[in-house]
Amino acid sequence: MAKKKVAIVGFGGQGNWHGQKILKNNVVDLVGIYDIRPVRMEYAKEQGIHTYESYEDMLAGEADIIVVATPNDSHKDLCVRALRAGKHVICEKPVTMSVEEFDEIVQTANETGKVFEVHQNRRWDTDFLLMKDMIETERIGKPLFLGSYVQGSRGIPGDWRCEKQHGGGMMLDWGVHLIDQMLLLVDSPINSLYCITTNYTNSEVDDGFKLFLHFANGVVGYVEVGTYNFITNNRFYGQFEQGTAQIMGWNDSIRVRQCTNWGEGDAHPVQTASGITKTMAPRSDATVNEFTIAPSPSDVHDFYRNFVDAIEGKAQKRIADSEVRRVLLVMQSALTSAAENRVVTFSPAL
Ligand code: NAD
Repeated sequence: MAKKKVAIVGFGGQGNWHGQKILKNNVVDLVGIYDIRPVRMEYAKEQGIHTYESYEDMLAGEADIIVVATPNDSHKDLCVRALRAGKHVICEKPVTMSVEEFDEIVQTANETGKVFEVHQNRRWDTDFLLMKDMIETERIGKPLFLGSYVQGSRGIPGDWRCEKQHGGGMMLDWGVHLIDQMLLLVDSPINSLYCITTNYTNSEVDDGFKLFLHFANGVVGYVEVGTYNFITNNRFYGQFEQGTAQIMGWNDSIRVRQCTNWGEGDAHPVQTASGITKTMAPRSDATVNEFTIAPSPSDVHDFYRNFVDAIEGKAQKRIADSEVRRVLLVMQSALTSAAENRVVTFSPAL
């Protein structure tokens, strides 16, 4: 079958990322881009990429698939218009500013019979896949607590991400990835959540947040995003029935300390400046088994391969609408929790 043709609307940082990936991986063909900023149109031309005169022009063209990579507040209209024009659509995250907007896109996709999928590409990050594997294989039992952290020290990028009307803020920008991952790691509905947002560097939108998710199976999930962290935490930290697992950074191995002898006899007290503690004394090597597992390579372009298969009716799309909708509901509830300083409970569980 002939390769599917892709056009990209919004050729900024992420639109260009899609363009470069498409050109390199050759799974689909790039037929052109459109951006409202002349400077980005010029940049595309310099790369030898065709530019459409307008979005209407693009929708009237030969593309089978439209990739929407514009600021968040414009996703809904651009997606609906593309679907109505008979195109399949890939939309960047966060898909929309509200659940209602998302439902409108899904309804339009259903009416037009076109495939619509959200680009939750962080499902291909190797740190996430390592932690997922640790949970699924139950090497050290089931999880009790899972912490997921992304931290930087540069504040929010100085573009539309600082502005509420365009869907700025770190909950929508990074929260959408980490919450999506957390909901895939813990196979259970959520009973309640509590969230604190931070405004250390920006008053209009959150520049970070700390979110507790209480799952019905007893697991506690913790998601933290920060943009004012000059020393960063680990990427993942998991407490399991039989030990602890930790991943320091994006592409790192997972470090596991499995408890092999819970009832260690005498622990040697730790001397601190002002006292002693046996409770917090480190374990002797004889009672733990430590090992690391390196990440396996992952190919984010599987997203495009799967998308094409979904168009051709050979596979289900990888990012289900119900999963995207649930993440939107969690983000919306987390922002309510932060604004009203209260626990949000779900009945029935979410
Ligand atoms: P950006 O500001 O770098 O680029 C956005 C581009 O869209 C700009 O060039 C702008 O001129 C153009 N634009 C705005 N409105 C338009 C319109 N109506 N028609 C045509 N072009 C328009 O932003 P970005 O970082 O590329 O982010 C774009 C989207 O991609 C956002 O939704 C963001 O959340 C998402 N994103 C996803 C990832 C990821 O890993 N999945 C990473 C970065 C950004």
